[in-house]
Amino acid sequence: MSKKKSKASRNLIDRDLKVVWHPCTQMKDHEKIPLIPIKEGKGVWLKDYDGNQYIDAISSWWVNIFGHSNPYINKQIIKQLGNLEHVLLAGFTHEPAVNLAERLIKLSPQKIKKCFFTDNGSSAVDAAMKMSYHYWKNKGFKKKSKFISLSNSYHGETLGSLSVSNIDLYKKTYEELMIDTIIVESPDCYLKDENHTDKEHTEIMFDKMLKVIEKKHKEVCAVIVEPLVQCAGYMRMYHPIYLKLLREACNKYHIHLIADEIAVGFGRTGTMFAYEQSKITPDIICLSKGITGGYMTLSTILTTNDIYNAFYDEYTKLNAFLHSHSYTANPIACSAANATLDIFEKEKTILKNKELSNYITKSLKNIVNHNHVGDVRQHGMIVAIEMVKDKLNKKPYSWKERRGIKAYEYGLKNNVLIRPLGNVIYFMPPYVIKKKEIDKVITTIEGAIDIATK
Ligand code: PMP
Repeated sequence: MSKKKSKASRNLIDRDLKVVWHPCTQMKDHEKIPLIPIKEGKGVWLKDYDGNQYIDAISSWWVNIFGHSNPYINKQIIKQLGNLEHVLLAGFTHEPAVNLAERLIKLSPQKIKKCFFTDNGSSAVDAAMKMSYHYWKNKGFKKKSKFISLSNSYHGETLGSLSVSNIDLYKKTYEELMIDTIIVESPDCYLKDENHTDKEHTEIMFDKMLKVIEKKHKEVCAVIVEPLVQCAGYMRMYHPIYLKLLREACNKYHIHLIADEIAVGFGRTGTMFAYEQSKITPDIICLSKGITGGYMTLSTILTTNDIYNAFYDEYTKLNAFLHSHSYTANPIACSAANATLDIFEKEKTILKNKELSNYITKSLKNIVNHNHVGDVRQHGMIVAIEMVKDKLNKKPYSWKERRGIKAYEYGLKNNVLIRPLGNVIYFMPPYVIKKKEIDKVITTIEGAIDIATK
């Protein structure tokens, strides 16, 4: 398979670099690292203009669930296009939105009764923060204005969602613009004492959260967490006991628990939603990414009647939640989401993924033993591999060495798209991946680690 760029490919790259400013990218990098124009996608495969194919081992930033250009989702979108492309959701409604709200609520714990549509992950988090703050205001708790989140957390890029995030790389520059947030040390099990189990470590770390809640609860609206996996935070993981303890403390001290399921929702951690593994009901659940199977932008926040009812009043009291986005619950996006849920039901995806994730676990053996691998962690369909300078004491490589890029380039040369987060290579594939393709990804990751740690 040739890696030489065709005229069509070169032309598109030149035109792109003249006008497009890419997300999360130092554009100067493209002087050395070529852009890859993609012509088509089918299943887990992406195809460029030169006939090269790449397995999308990261689900295109964790959004794709049932493969690119999925025939069933395509069909449902085309059907919807013939009926209605869009209508505002204020004062009007449509069947795809109602169906989707009903289905999401049915998939949620009993107390979750309402679905508020937003636009993308970050806007869902912003809306959840506003909703929680406004709830306490409506209820007469005037002092509640702060949020608690975990160190190493990531909740988005808008000023609100970035305020409750805690990764310096994305946040530090904008510090003066941020809403003051209380950051509590993450239960991240990578950092645990060797003598402790994950559960013990997580319980110990919860003590730090409890102390902050006990001290600050009067000024706190909500705690926001990414259940079980801090995805953008280098795929660091923690034990489900944390959310159980957090739920109890939030109940006791009148604080909302916001579950940001934007990355981990829709089966990524082995259950439909990650919070299920802690058997808890969050007060607000943020969903996006996989919700449309990776087709288009859509997000929702799900919540309880208790929260909904705090806004339900005479208009003149001016306590309604007047939050909106122009494309709220776009019918085409909702039809993609309904099609995605159809597939989950018809194909018993959660059950089928158990076999796939077990298969992945078994194929990780060589990687675990690699001299420069400090940790291999997995929650269901998410695997993360921590490349380290020194295996014994988990000494990291300096970020300045940019070893992840070497792994990325090796992956592309070998027809696999991996996009490491710093020194962490992760694997989060669409669920339509076949065992043979998993083998190919794992072998490529093995080679990528060898090259990147040389
Ligand atoms: N929350 C989490 C947990 C995420 O992983 C992300 C995106 N990576 C977001 C929020 C923000 O979503 P979006 O990129 O759609 O704004």
